[in-house]
Amino acid sequence: MGIDRPTPATTTVVAFNNIIDGARVEAADGRRLDVMSPSDGVVFASIPRSSAVDVDRAVKAARAAFDTGPWGQMAAVDRGRILMGLSQLITAHAEELATFESRDTGKPIRQGRADIVATARYFEFYAGAADKLTGDTIPTIDGFLAMTIREPHGVVGGVIPWNYPAQIMGRVAGAALAAGNTVVLKPAEDACLSVVRIAELALEAGVPPGAFNVVTGLGAEAGAALSAHPGLDFLTFTGSPEVGTLIQQAAAVNHIGVTLELGGKSPQIVFADADLHQAIPVIVNAIIQNAGQTCSAGSRVLIERTAFDEVARRLAERFTALVAGPWDADLDLGALVNAKQKARVERFLARAEAEQVPILARGRIAANAPEAGQYVAPALVGPVPRDNALAQEEVFGPVLSLISFEDEADAIALANGTPYGLVAGVWTRDGQRAVRIGRKVRAGQVFLNAYGAGGGVELPFGGFKKSGHGREKGFEALHHFTAPKTLVIKHG
Ligand code: NAD
Repeated sequence: MGIDRPTPATTTVVAFNNIIDGARVEAADGRRLDVMSPSDGVVFASIPRSSAVDVDRAVKAARAAFDTGPWGQMAAVDRGRILMGLSQLITAHAEELATFESRDTGKPIRQGRADIVATARYFEFYAGAADKLTGDTIPTIDGFLAMTIREPHGVVGGVIPWNYPAQIMGRVAGAALAAGNTVVLKPAEDACLSVVRIAELALEAGVPPGAFNVVTGLGAEAGAALSAHPGLDFLTFTGSPEVGTLIQQAAAVNHIGVTLELGGKSPQIVFADADLHQAIPVIVNAIIQNAGQTCSAGSRVLIERTAFDEVARRLAERFTALVAGPWDADLDLGALVNAKQKARVERFLARAEAEQVPILARGRIAANAPEAGQYVAPALVGPVPRDNALAQEEVFGPVLSLISFEDEADAIALANGTPYGLVAGVWTRDGQRAVRIGRKVRAGQVFLNAYGAGGGVELPFGGFKKSGHGREKGFEALHHFTAPKTLVIKHG
């Protein structure tokens, strides 16, 4: 979406508002942004184009809710009950939310539905975890009893992307709220309707005013204002490495902690003894899901040289059959999120062609896909030279790079040979080798004979190297959204 785009005249436009201090509010200056579906180019909603004034109101509301409001004082079990109620409300509104999610992002409706199931599961998981976050007792000198208590940071600011708006909102707000923080979220201007709607449902579920605020708008305006706000106690960001740098700089100025999740170039390592029948569909799905716009997309397949031709042939067969089309046609993949993202992916492919990297197979775009949609036919490329952009850089689109390796040591070197380290998959029937590689690959999650693109509400998730730092998801996220306080009692 953008601000200077012509508005097609053909649809009902739903107006969404910010959620600040328990109320649905316009931006203070009344400015708005159109929301266009990348499936067909039709504007079907609008959101506030918030400024620093709106962000300031939201942070002050979150501060008051933490310092003196009920959320800051509430027993953990009661916070958990409210979040469980929110999970149930999300499930009750699943079809409405999935429709917003798919139309907003362009993803096929079954993916939108799966995302909402996962979002409800995040709130369920963290609802159950809220009263199970315990500290330690620490043996210390005679006459003293020492313990730690996990304390919420206070006001958490979150800047999140457009690829999985509802899910990423769930993993940030679910964990931060369960731990007793209050939250101000700035979702992406390209896709944020499900996030606003779920913040409305949170009020219905009993999350008190000010505890969970959502401020929509542009990154350089609302996003920059939120990340620089001196009223925050902690920041979390998912998105591009470039903006990640700005977020970390803003956090440094305010001396607060920050979690960064910045994407990857995640490898699937396939040995000649792998069960290809099992591996191939998983490998295809790991790049096609969300049209490749997944931080943990399996975007490189590293193949043992003797099996390269066979794996490439089987993948090409699948790629040739893939079809992209509108969200409600529910095909293999949908549109990319916007024209900028489509142009980015096309640039990578044009460069590959210029550099004579073979394009082994292309899927197709459905014949009836709207002209104004942002479609890219999936592409299988390889063998890709190891230093080529398609072997090193995050494309964030339906492009799968094949690279061959010689032996185990070469596979590990290749897997670790990019600036990223988010997820990896290893495919082999040799269990000991799978574990050896699992231990040596530098990635936040490693799957052996499996792969979960973004998978696992319960599984700690985050990167090494340029993929970022800190962990979200699972119980681990609760440690990042809290800090230990040490309490020492003299009794002797
Ligand atoms: P982005 O990093 O610009 O956007 C992510 C979020 O950051 C959005 O909410 C945006 O409004 C906000 N933002 C942008 N500029 C900001 C600023 N100056 N201060 C504070 N917040 C700001 O991502 P993009 O431009 O939408 O996508 C570019 C590339 O980033 C993609 O092609 C992809 O490679 C990568 N990406 C990764 C993820 C991921 O999940 N890791 C998600 C989205 C994009």
